[in-house]
This record gives sequence, structure tokens and C-alpha cells, in this order.
Amino acid sequence: MPCTHINHMSDEDVKSWLNSFDTVMTDCDGVLWVGAEAIQGSPQVINRFRELGKRVFFVTNNSTKHRREYKQKVDTLGFGGDLDEIIGTAYLAASYLEDCGFDKTKKVYVVGSAGITQELDDVGIQYLPIGAESSSGFNLETINDSRLNADQLLDRSVEAVILGFDGGINCWKLMMAASYLANHNTQFIVTNADACFLRAGLILPGTGSMVAAVETAAGRKPIILGKPNPLMFEIVQKRHPSVKPERTLMIGDRADTDILLGKNCGLQTLMVGTGVHSLEKVKDWETSTDSEEQRLVPDKFADRLGDLLDRIKDL
Ligand SMILES: [Mg+2]
Repeated sequence: MPCTHINHMSDEDVKSWLNSFDTVMTDCDGVLWVGAEAIQGSPQVINRFRELGKRVFFVTNNSTKHRREYKQKVDTLGFGGDLDEIIGTAYLAASYLEDCGFDKTKKVYVVGSAGITQELDDVGIQYLPIGAESSSGFNLETINDSRLNADQLLDRSVEAVILGFDGGINCWKLMMAASYLANHNTQFIVTNADACFLRAGLILPGTGSMVAAVETAAGRKPIILGKPNPLMFEIVQKRHPSVKPERTLMIGDRADTDILLGKNCGLQTLMVGTGVHSLEKVKDWETSTDSEEQRLVPDKFADRLGDLLDRIKDL
């Protein structure tokens, strides 16, 4: 199916499209805001969706914040919404362990930030303190250092490793994570596998780069919780059983996470051009012979989410 640009839709088409969904799941960075600034028009469209009776969920692969921090951000930037409408991957990681009955006398080794440990606190799961390790790591000359000893370093009550974005990742943390994962009963959970972010001409390594390092050292594949894993939608459905995939619109700026999540769950999809992927990319995928690339094509495209406002304000 080719992608339809909203500018090429008649008012009648926009109206029937709008009536075809009653739940909106939206990515945040690149759709609603960039950094600390709301993208012009996005708050008004989200609020208009609510006025039209649609339920809105914010879904983000970012693992660095507790939902409370997102709540503050959506309030400050004028999007509104309740805490339970915010699904981040730190929350997802804690919910995942809780849902699979993680033994609360055991612990989690976390590579990541306080967003994850605060969510673990909420479900009563214990963890080792983040960043308590040597920040100097080790080098191959001192590899016979007597400190490097599993009996001394490893806490035998650890039964899961959660890996999220960690700006202070180092060889020591990689060693600890890989060593815990040598026990195949230890669960290996990663919040997301986003490769990188682009900012001002720089490539900032994302969680996916850190996942690759741990995965290589441990020789194991993790469970990746974030988009495009259907878990992100499944948790919304579990909490709100009335949500129907075919009547849910997934909005995103990135095809291989946001749009693919939509495709993986049977949702409708809308891509906006204010973030990672452009309309030109969509055109390339439309004509690609690679079926994986064809799956990245969204149903609809808007240059900005705010462009919808004019089309839906009088409905
Ligand atoms: Mg995004």
C-alpha cells in the first residue's frame, strides 16, 4: 500500500480517517518535541484528539526517565495527560519482570540510569546500586589483578540484567553484565535497541550500541522490550482491554521503531517529517523490492503533526 500524504486527502477522507481510530499511541521525541521544546502545533493536535474523544498514550523507547519525569514534561509543554498514559521502556522493564513473577528476594544488575531503578522501586524489585563500580575499568596489562575475581565481585542473588541507555558505560560494567549473563538462568533484558541519535552533525551512540557490546561479550541475545517489539502495545492493551489494534493510530518519526511497531501489532500508522526519517525515504521504501523495507512504509505522512490541526479543528 502506498503512503498517502495528508495534504493530498480531501476533507471527507480526513474525516473518515479520523473516525477510523479511537486510540492514539504517539512517539515523543521528533513528533511532540525536540529536546526541551515542543514542536509547533503538536500540543494543540494532541489536545484536539482528546476533545474528539480519542484516548492518547505516549510511548517512548527512552529508558532514562521515570514516568513521573515524563508527566512533568508533557504538562510543562502543554500536552496534558495522566501518568498511566505514559509508557517508557524503564517502566516496561520493571513491568516485564513483575509480570513474569521475578523473585523479589533476588536482585537485578542495572546498566542504565535512575529511571530504571525508580521504576523497579515502584514494583518492589531489588537491584544493585548503579555506578558503584570502578569507573576506571581495567586494562589488559592488569588483567591478573586479584580484584578481577568472580567470587569477590559477583553478587550471587542477581538473576536479571537490565540494560538501558548509560552515558557512563565502561569496560567494568560490560564485564559485570557479561559475567552475570554467563549464568543462563539470568534474564537478559534491554530497554531498546535504537542505534543512535543525530544532533548537530554528530552521531550519538544509542542504547543499541551498548547492547551490541554486552551481547558480544556475553555471547547471548537479549529480549528487547521497546518499539518495534509488540510488548509496548501489549502492555497498553493489558492495562486497557478495550483498546483495539485496528482502531489504534501509531504516530512516529522513525520507521524501524515506531512504524514497525504499528505494523507488528496491526495498528494504523502516521509518520511525521520532524524527526529521523523523511518523505524521500518513504518513497524509496515504496519502490523497494525488499519486503522488509516495504513494511516500513506508513499509511499516512504529515510534514508536521501540527499540520493536522487545520484539517481537524472544525470536525
Ligand atoms: Mg522519535
